[in-house]
Amino acid sequence: MSLITVGTMAFDAIQTPFGKVDRIVGGSATYVAYAASNFINDVKQISIIGNDFPAEEIQSLEKRGVNLDGVERVADKKSFFWSGKYHMDMNTRDTLVTDLNVLADFNPIVPESYQGSEFLMLGNLMPKLQLSVINQLKVKPKLIVMDTMNFWMDIALDDLKEVLKKVDVLLVNDSEARQLSGEFSLVKASRKIMEMGPQFLIIKKGEHGALLFHKNHVFHAPALPLEEVFDPTGAGDTFAGGFIGHIAKTNDISFDNMKTAIIVGSALASFCVEKFGPERMKEITKEDIDARISEFVQLVSFDIDLV
Ligand code: AMP
Repeated sequence: MSLITVGTMAFDAIQTPFGKVDRIVGGSATYVAYAASNFINDVKQISIIGNDFPAEEIQSLEKRGVNLDGVERVADKKSFFWSGKYHMDMNTRDTLVTDLNVLADFNPIVPESYQGSEFLMLGNLMPKLQLSVINQLKVKPKLIVMDTMNFWMDIALDDLKEVLKKVDVLLVNDSEARQLSGEFSLVKASRKIMEMGPQFLIIKKGEHGALLFHKNHVFHAPALPLEEVFDPTGAGDTFAGGFIGHIAKTNDISFDNMKTAIIVGSALASFCVEKFGPERMKEITKEDIDARISEFVQLVSFDIDLV
């Protein structure tokens, strides 16, 4: 099965209570590609980079089988830059800087060789561009998953609502679900959001795991309690990459398989936060991932005798 991923490839400056980095590689599509390429070897990336994006990073993604034909390279501009500062709880953060740079004039083109892909992962990006990619596809993918953030809800809500009409699964965090729906209860929020288009909704709750909603069903995946969390940046994108990677590998879009996929996504995200940037994602093996998924199973399995 093949998967198209769309999003940013960026530089990030990150401050957490445990450290600070001024300029490391990041971006929503970067994290999605690192995560999804653990499961399928046909990840087709669409993004844009400037003249400053490191050649080693390109090679590192290509070595994992990520196809970068859809990544536009702009010779006289800088890559997208984002800077954020995490609060003490590491679950919430402030965006300090968003420099669009090459993203300001981005007009994604779906290469002919990408047509016919069964799965589409719309990573966090301007909603207009997410929509443009959907509209360029000649055959509707089997599943369209979309990630977004409060930034786009603040400045491009109407566009975002247009994309929502065309996607199957939306991924947001709890505060974004509340902002989008205007409801505090996540159950009420999920109903309102699913009325906007997606049949499935995943609400990420940082260290408190994730909820999967579909019709009247709800499923909860925990987050693994970790001794040390260095940098949560990219955890959401990594979760998304693990989720769609598992779905594409198994070619099964049932609610039951999505339950497994959110456990897989949570396991991948638990690695991402262990080091700054996508570094940890480059190190892990299939054995590491399998062992971590087993830890998730242990975490939540119990017997109960009701008398
Ligand atoms: P996450 O922590 O999963 O929300 O993802 C953080 C990544 O998203 C960082 O590597 C940023 O480069 C990227 N990012 C931050 N803001 C935006 C934005 N407005 N649009 C697209 N990507 C962004």
